[in-house]
Amino acid sequence: MQLLKDRIRKDGKIKAGNVLKVDSFLNHQMDIDLFQEIGREFKRRFSDVQVNKILTIEASGIGIACVVAQSFHVPVVFAKKTKTKNIAGDVYTSKVESFTHGRVYDIIVSKEFLGKGDKVLLIDDFLANGKALEGLAALVRESGAELVGAGIVIEKGFQVGGDIIRSQGIRLESLAIVDSMDEETGTITFRGDEA
Ligand code: 5GP
Repeated sequence: MQLLKDRIRKDGKIKAGNVLKVDSFLNHQMDIDLFQEIGREFKRRFSDVQVNKILTIEASGIGIACVVAQSFHVPVVFAKKTKTKNIAGDVYTSKVESFTHGRVYDIIVSKEFLGKGDKVLLIDDFLANGKALEGLAALVRESGAELVGAGIVIEKGFQVGGDIIRSQGIRLESLAIVDSMDEETGTITFRGDEA
């Protein structure tokens, strides 16, 4: 998605530890016009499948998922991160190791909002090592719902997540795949760019 790649090149900031900061338009301040274009692009890419629910993870996935959901006209459910060990039996649970914080969280979704018969599209802002998507996919499996695919705004193609998710047979659509980023020069290359 050219509009997104141009924006990442213009406003993205490369930080230590393979972190790309896109705080000015994606996950702190949010450019809703861009989000709408992102939503339309996911709708186009997943136009051949039925989706009746979007599942994301708090916090930075929620804003994007809500605008994407306007293109699909379906509700959004977000997995909550919790540190509580003893969780009541009315939720699905899974574990996620956070890329940005290095901690392991339990994530939960109420059984009320996900179950057999649901056709679920996962949406998240970034894909790095794939832990967030794996955790969300596990919740969908546990619920008996059908996972129709995963939509990612920015995949860091030089990290392992994309390969892991695709090798599990999950249909993954990433709107921008960063192949390399150089902290010193600020240069970002994308998959599919001309050499
Ligand atoms: P994964 O679970 O795939 O390792 O990491 C994905 C999650 O970590 C996303 O939900 C996202 O919030 C966060 N994340 C991973 N890499 C980056 C990054 O380069 N920049 C930002 N802002 N968040 C990231």
